Amino acid sequence: MRGRGEKLEAAVAARELDRMLVTDLTNVRYLTGFTGTNGAVICGPETRLFLTDFRYTERAEAEVAEWETVTISADWLGGIAARLGGRVGFEDDQMSVRMAEKLKEKLAEGTELVAAGGEVEKLRRVKDSEELRAIAEASKLGEEAWRWALERGFLGRSERDVALATEAKIRELGGEPSFPAIVATGPNGALPHAEPGERVIATGELVVFDMGAKLDGYCSDGTRTFAIGEVGEKGREVYDVVLQAQLAALEAITAGRTGEELDTIARELIGEAGYGEAFGHALGHGVGLEVHEGPRLAQKSDDVLAPGEVVTVEPGIYLAGELGVRIEDFVIVREDGFENLSTLSKDLTLVD
Ligand code: ZN
Ligand code: ZN
Repeated sequence: MRGRGEKLEAAVAARELDRMLVTDLTNVRYLTGFTGTNGAVICGPETRLFLTDFRYTERAEAEVAEWETVTISADWLGGIAARLGGRVGFEDDQMSVRMAEKLKEKLAEGTELVAAGGEVEKLRRVKDSEELRAIAEASKLGEEAWRWALERGFLGRSERDVALATEAKIRELGGEPSFPAIVATGPNGALPHAEPGERVIATGELVVFDMGAKLDGYCSDGTRTFAIGEVGEKGREVYDVVLQAQLAALEAITAGRTGEELDTIARELIGEAGYGEAFGHALGHGVGLEVHEGPRLAQKSDDVLAPGEVVTVEPGIYLAGELGVRIEDFVIVREDGFENLSTLSKDLTLVD
């Protein structure tokens, strides 16, 4: 966590705030290391306060360093308000309107709440070496579960069976799923966020398999589309278009590129092949403590990639009632390129 308070303090100063109140628990964890379910941070010049209640005093002692822990025994908002003054940034994208109103009532005269959401999220985009190590480990563990699922086989099993068994394998290996695994076969593959159901995986179908593992709080994310036996000309053609788009966008990943530029590379190739309407989501997203975070690789995204960011590259084509294909790699952005954490083959793999 070293140095994160200093970075936030600089961001607070740049926005001409006196203090920043952080209430989003993922952001609190990022800043302090605290993994409990009630905590807040107040950051500013010479102010590094971590606030929690008595249930977590012990945990805070074990997890939180560099921040002064304050235990608030009653009146949580009153305890926070008593430690605020001047222009106070708060996470307006996280705190409920009701809570903000209640907090305002308790503030001393002259103290002002200023909407300042997203500041910690910006810091979280670039990972330090410790975070990158955790992410690489999570990715490795996820892929181990994936290989296990491939070996176990898909044919004749329900989507749900494959998804649940893989999630159980992730837990057995010491992690947890970073999100509920998506296993979508045949026409279900056309739903980008399909929930695995009772549909049994049959010969001649494409199966979209999207999953990730979480280790020490850090997530991985990846997708492969597998062929169960011979999937026919259309399936192969669509797969090839997605693969070419994925490879082109992937090869372009490097520090300095914008999210929109990268998205456009894949989108144009898919459009030229006549499937523009069928690529209905963004090219990719950042991954870290949350499976979806900044930067955004999307149209209208002016996010500029920086070394140490971790992003997905995941174009897809979804033909309603027919089939779906998505291929998603998980990469670290480097100064002069990228490092791909995904090692599973992207050739159309025939499995059973
Ligand atoms: Zn993703
Ligand atoms: Zn994914």
